[in-house]
Amino acid sequence: MLKTPIEYLKGVGTQRADVLKKELGIYTYQNLLVHYPFRYIDRTKYYKIKDLTGDLPAVQVLVRVFHKEIIGEKHTKRLVVKVKDDTGSIELVWFQGIKWIDKNVNIGAAFIVFGKPTVFNNRISISHPELELYNPKIKKEGNLTLQPVYNSTEKLKMFSLDTKGIQKLLASLLEACVHEIEESLPQYILVKHSLLGKQEAVLNIHFPKDVKSLTLAQRRLKFDELFFIQLKLLKNKLLRVQKFKGVVFDKVGEKFNRFYSEMLPFELTNAQKRVLKEIRIDTQRGVQTNRLLQGDVGSGKTVVALMSMLLAIDNGYQACIMAPTEILAQQHYTSIKNLVGNNFANLEILTGSTRKKNRPDIHSRLENGEINILVGTHALIEESVKFLKLGLVVIDEQHRFGVEQRAKLWKKNSIPPHVLVMTATPIPRTLAMTLYGDLDVSVIDELPAGRKPIKTIHLYDSQRLRMYGFMREEIAKGRQVYIVYPLIKESEKLDLLHLEAGIEEISHVFPLPNYFISIVHGKLSAKDKTSEMERFINGKTQIMVATTVIEVGVNVPNASVMIIENAERFGLSQLHQLRGRVGRGAEQSFCILMSGSKLSKDAKTRLETMVRTNDGFEISEIDLQLRGPGNIEGTQQSGVLDLKLADLALDQNLLMEARQSVIEIFEQDPYLTNTENKILNHYFEAKKQGISWDKIS
Ligand code: ADP
Ligand code: MG
Repeated sequence: MLKTPIEYLKGVGTQRADVLKKELGIYTYQNLLVHYPFRYIDRTKYYKIKDLTGDLPAVQVLVRVFHKEIIGEKHTKRLVVKVKDDTGSIELVWFQGIKWIDKNVNIGAAFIVFGKPTVFNNRISISHPELELYNPKIKKEGNLTLQPVYNSTEKLKMFSLDTKGIQKLLASLLEACVHEIEESLPQYILVKHSLLGKQEAVLNIHFPKDVKSLTLAQRRLKFDELFFIQLKLLKNKLLRVQKFKGVVFDKVGEKFNRFYSEMLPFELTNAQKRVLKEIRIDTQRGVQTNRLLQGDVGSGKTVVALMSMLLAIDNGYQACIMAPTEILAQQHYTSIKNLVGNNFANLEILTGSTRKKNRPDIHSRLENGEINILVGTHALIEESVKFLKLGLVVIDEQHRFGVEQRAKLWKKNSIPPHVLVMTATPIPRTLAMTLYGDLDVSVIDELPAGRKPIKTIHLYDSQRLRMYGFMREEIAKGRQVYIVYPLIKESEKLDLLHLEAGIEEISHVFPLPNYFISIVHGKLSAKDKTSEMERFINGKTQIMVATTVIEVGVNVPNASVMIIENAERFGLSQLHQLRGRVGRGAEQSFCILMSGSKLSKDAKTRLETMVRTNDGFEISEIDLQLRGPGNIEGTQQSGVLDLKLADLALDQNLLMEARQSVIEIFEQDPYLTNTENKILNHYFEAKKQGISWDKIS
């Protein structure tokens, strides 16, 4: 019955059905059932008239009528009823149904009035409010005290499908088929986690009996959403473990040991050691490893990646590391080469700009196993790139690579290689569990000793001279400076103008021959970009003016100042990443956030957060709260965006609970064959038929 097309529901019909489909994607009873209210109005609370403003949504006031009159002619004819409480008075206005209202609203009577206040001629009025005669003797028990508010659109409203109209449809829908709603969770899980049954939850999400029932209903339905995402992720993980053998790295060999004891220029942090141990344990089990390596900017993920690759080589395998950009790949190549020298391991780089004539040689040396470590961009994924024995794939700054790309790398060896995914900056815990819930997670939660925390300040455009003065001082000390401009697709032309103006001003304030400037932006050819970068990396220029192309990964230890122009336009994680470009050497580093004087509330929070903390984990959590998961890269394919009720910023505990619950289920019953767990298989069967879960429940 829940699959019934929506036009058959009482009160819908073909016309309204069309609008419901077009505007809200509601095709069936089931679709309507999961069109949940987006908020509720507490009908037990009365506003005072003095507190009413035009910004409020529909509110409820308790008032007494003291005046009424019909004014205007024909089209402008209306009934105006003046009402007051002990704090002031407002007007209620009707353009239709005047006669009936006039008859029933008497001067001196007390009413509960419900509607949206608007400001007209500097006075507050409510047009066409709902009225209810106030009777202090009748308790409100049993009445609908929490009124659901539904998403609607102008178009829907033209067909009387405003929040009230939708509410009516849901009332008749639930009356007809609440008993058709099937339970999706096993009984023992409901008991264990104190969850409402599904029917009761759906009923109460639309028509809550009271606040408590609403809270319970929300909890139950959020749990559902989170639980089934985890069920899918963890089942995938389980399948992978069952289906794929992993290459075995059973020894720590000569290269790893020699690198560690003779070549490593610093002491590893404890966190790096711990993570290496985790990787070591992972890769000797004979099970394919998929591990997410999280660490803040500058926490030293690269050396962990390198040592993991040495582990692969020691066990007779090849390894590759894949970066999202040409510049980064080049930099990995250089820094690995600097760390291990030329004779220690055969290192090669392959990117989009590798010469055609050099490729056949690289390909054949890969295929005969001569090359131990291949560094590159997504050029590595191409079919023509074949390895003799690929044992480990490291993916740097993962979120730019899709799941499918990961899968292509898998196929490059008969037994899928181990995969180590490194994020550029930390991502919030809940998001990590959802985006990468099928991976094991390692965290480098410690920076190398002796790092001086970057000092961050926020300056307004009017304080620009201070900034120039500061730049001069730092450059005089031999340091280098980044100046980053936003370049955002929607406003690209304007941004480029700003960039040009900025470059002109900087060249004026820092003129040749005392100062040299590198300029890097997306409009340059890859070759020019690389050569401008190199001039800066080699210290030939002191100032690098750039758009966000330098955002990810670039490492120039002598650069100690990061200036971000129009900082208010950047997202938090982007700001943090940019800041992470400095603070890589022994010197005290600085980040200067330049902004205009008019800042939105969120922009203020972002800049304040940056000034207050250097902790990438904390920053990522605040970022999630500000932006929601939908705007965070990589969430598109994850199911996060299908969440209707659960909120990854707020429902952390519930997510842990749901995940833990799934883990325990799989521990006891990995194939979900126990009678009580059979119900969970419905979910996968539905998936197989291409039905999205929210559409079948
Ligand atoms: P990220 O995690 O951001 O990729 P990198 O791997 O680029 O960081 O490391 C940042 C810098 O810190 C590099 O110059 C690297 O050589 C250095 N580094 C890494 N680990 C340590 C350590 N344990 N002690 C000192 N310096 C380190
Ligand atoms: Mg890095």
